[in-house]
Amino acid sequence: MNSPVEEIKNERKLLLKKLLNEGIEKRWKFLTNYPDAIFVLDFHGQFVFVNSRFEKLTQFAEEELMTKKIQFLVDIGSLDKVFNYFHRAVLGQIQTFDCKISTKAGNIIDTNFIIVPIIVEDAIVGVYVVAKDITHYKRKKVEIRKIEEFYRVLTENVVDIILNTNRLGKIIYVSPSCEYVLGYKPEELIGKHLSILFYKDDLERASLEREKLLTNYENTRGSYRFCKKNGDFIWMESVCKPIIDSDTQNLLEVVTVFRDITERRMTEELMINSEKLNIAGQLAAGIAHEVRNPLTAIKGFLQLMEAQSTNNLYFDIIKSEMDRIELILSELLVLAKPLDAKFESENMNALINNVKTLIDTQAILNNVQIDIVYENGDLTIRCDKNQLKQVFINFLKNAIEAMPNGGNIIIEIKKFSEDKARILIKDTGIGIPQHILKRIGQPFITTKQGGTGLGIMISKQIIENHKGTVHFWSDEKGTMIEMILPF
Ligand code: ADP
Ligand code: MG
Repeated sequence: MNSPVEEIKNERKLLLKKLLNEGIEKRWKFLTNYPDAIFVLDFHGQFVFVNSRFEKLTQFAEEELMTKKIQFLVDIGSLDKVFNYFHRAVLGQIQTFDCKISTKAGNIIDTNFIIVPIIVEDAIVGVYVVAKDITHYKRKKVEIRKIEEFYRVLTENVVDIILNTNRLGKIIYVSPSCEYVLGYKPEELIGKHLSILFYKDDLERASLEREKLLTNYENTRGSYRFCKKNGDFIWMESVCKPIIDSDTQNLLEVVTVFRDITERRMTEELMINSEKLNIAGQLAAGIAHEVRNPLTAIKGFLQLMEAQSTNNLYFDIIKSEMDRIELILSELLVLAKPLDAKFESENMNALINNVKTLIDTQAILNNVQIDIVYENGDLTIRCDKNQLKQVFINFLKNAIEAMPNGGNIIIEIKKFSEDKARILIKDTGIGIPQHILKRIGQPFITTKQGGTGLGIMISKQIIENHKGTVHFWSDEKGTMIEMILPF
């Protein structure tokens, strides 16, 4: 005698068989040659129908499967999952999940199962299952994940900024490097309009370029100034590429790579600047030479006139203005000097002592004390002694002028390396104002009423002609000038 449960199960099995027998003939005929693999299981999970596609997928023939239960095909690792979903399906819910099955040859394939309960006369008599081979899809997914990982590592580690915007210019992605370059965290920029990054004067140019890209779908290049979070600006070179949907030909997004080119721009500017200075210097020296001769003649006649005139009121003014012209000319003329510079080995200690003697009178008048610090023995440098003297005089005069209420100047002469000497001039003056310090070495930059703004430029030029370097440090407590000169 069967238990009542067994009775019900058997009854349902019969119902299912009947349904299939009739169905395959009539309603379910399409299952046989359906492009997806399909099989039917009874209440116990036993195969009662498989289509040809499923035979092909598993390599088992229909007769081989008909006596088996579903677990016969399922890879051991997926067994629990399959039982679980199968039981839910026989309770009446459609289930879909991924699992692995093994073929007759022992190959494991990734499949997706959709289990649909079969209901006859209000009773669930079994399930039919659509099985899709997703091995290829899974493999693709792994590949895509690898590619994604590769791009992630790439975008997170390059110093260039990779930035994606939508058609309207809204930032939809920005690589983490933006924090290092611009000071913004990616989340501070995402959702904002691209224009917030541009320096206002470059915005119009950038917008025009973008307009071109949006209409012609062409890659564009450009360089623009960007505002950093801290307010500084930097030069960025950009390469923009539109991403087009191949089906609709619509623009999906714009990918841009930005590179910081500030340093390159600065070097270029410096080169242009030094070239300009060179030309300006040569011109100035030439003009100074030409102007000096007529000036000497004018001065001579002026003296004659002064002697004959009864009204000398204006002569003092004219003479002092003439002296000023002469001073400017003599400074300009130094620019031409490097051509006829005479290089000889000179004792630095002696040379600097010499300059000190020259300038001491002025220093004492201004209550300024000059001290020289030497280091072991004499240092000799190959130089044009008059030119170097000119440099020290320029720097010391500036130092004295920066201490209207007196102060100290220390000159240090030291060996810097095997083949170089280092000369420091430190003062306790008011310091070089920031805006002057930024442009130091350019001509006609002066804060003094009677200044020419040529002293530092000429001194720098002389030191560079001696293959040396000069640096300035300055704050409100004083100024330090460092000269490095080869022996
Ligand atoms: P000038 O002395 O004719 O003004 P310079 O080229 O010698 O021209 O100097 C340019 C400017 O640099 C000065 O006007 C001054 O503002 C600043 N400067 C130079 N040296 C010093 C210094 N030691 N301390 C403070 N300011 C300085
Ligand atoms: Mg000066």
